[in-house]
Amino acid sequence: MNIVFKQIIKKIKEYDTIVLARHIGPDPDALASEIALRDSIKLTFPKKKVYAVGNSVAKFKYFGSLDRIDDNNLNKPLLIILDVPNKSRIDGINYDNYDYVIRIDHHPNVEEISDLEYVCVTASSTCELITELMVETKLKMNESIANNLFLGIVADSDRFLLSYTTPKTFKLITMLIEKYNLNISNLYNNLYLRPINEVKFQAYITLNMTVTENNFGYIKLDKSIMDEFKVDASSASNMINNFNFIKELYAWAFSSYDEKNKIYKINIRSRGPIINDVAQNYNGGGHIFASGARIKEESDVDKLFKDLDIRTKDYKNKLFSTK
Ligand code: AMP
Repeated sequence: MNIVFKQIIKKIKEYDTIVLARHIGPDPDALASEIALRDSIKLTFPKKKVYAVGNSVAKFKYFGSLDRIDDNNLNKPLLIILDVPNKSRIDGINYDNYDYVIRIDHHPNVEEISDLEYVCVTASSTCELITELMVETKLKMNESIANNLFLGIVADSDRFLLSYTTPKTFKLITMLIEKYNLNISNLYNNLYLRPINEVKFQAYITLNMTVTENNFGYIKLDKSIMDEFKVDASSASNMINNFNFIKELYAWAFSSYDEKNKIYKINIRSRGPIINDVAQNYNGGGHIFASGARIKEESDVDKLFKDLDIRTKDYKNKLFSTK
C-alpha cells in the first residue's frame, strides 16, 4: 500500500472528530471529494464525528448535504483539506483550531499548509485520489459515495478529454461503474442538463469573444449582459471548457462581474501556454492549463488579459521556431 495512504488512515483512526473542507466557490470535484470522504469515514468508523463544511451551492445539492459547525467548540480535531493549495481559499474553517492537518489535492503546490500531504499534480481530479485511497485501504464505499466520486472525476477531467486522464483514471472509473452498477445517464443529467438561456449565453460569448493575432481569446461579461441572458457570475465557469479544441485559440479567458461581491471572476483555460503563474500575479492560481482569479479593479482585468496574450504569443513563437 502507498505509504502516505497508510499514514492518512493511521491519523483518521487516531481522531474522534474529523472536519473535511475544500476551496471556496466549489466545483463538482471539490464538493464530491469532500462529501464522499466524509461519508466513507462515517461508514467505516460509525462512532466518529465527521463533518464536511463550507458554503453550500444550490445547483450542486445532488452531491449531498453539508454540515454546519462551529469549530471553536471542537476539541482539537483532525482537519482534512481537499482540492485546495492555498490557506486563504479554504472555505468554512478556522485553521488554528485544528490539531493536525492532512491535504489531499491535485493542484500544484503554492504554500505549506498541512502536516501530511498527498498531492499528485498529474491526477485527473481529487476524486481520483480519494477513489484510490478507498480502493487501497479499508475505507468503505457504497453506491452514493461511488456516484459522487464518478461525478467528480468526470467533471474535472472534462469527460476524460483533458491530458491528465490516464489508464489509472479509466481503471478506477471502471471499478466504480462495475461494482456499484452506476446509472451513468442519470449522473450525466446532474452535471450537464442546463437551461436554454445558458446555451444562448454561450452563443453570445462565441459571437463576441475577441481573438488576438496571438490566438488568445477573451471577453468581459458585465452585469447588463448577464441580466439579458438571465445568468449569473458563476455561469461562465460552466462553459469555459467548451471552448477547448478551437483551432484559433491556444488560451482563452472570461471575466464575469460579480455584483454581490463587487469582484471580477476570471476563468482561464489553455491548450498549450502555461497560465497559472500568470493568474498568480492577479490574486489567482490553479492548474497549469486551468486557472482562475478574483480581481477588484477592471484595469487589472485588462492587464491580466494583456499578460495572457503575451504568454500565448511566447508559446506560439516557440511552437513555430521548433517546427
Ligand atoms: P475555474 O475557472 O473557476 O473553474 O477555476 C479553475 C481552477 O483555478 C480551479 O482549480 C480553481 O481552484 C483555481 N482557481 C480559481 N480561482 C482561483 C483563485 N482566485 N485563486 C487560486 N486559484 C483559483
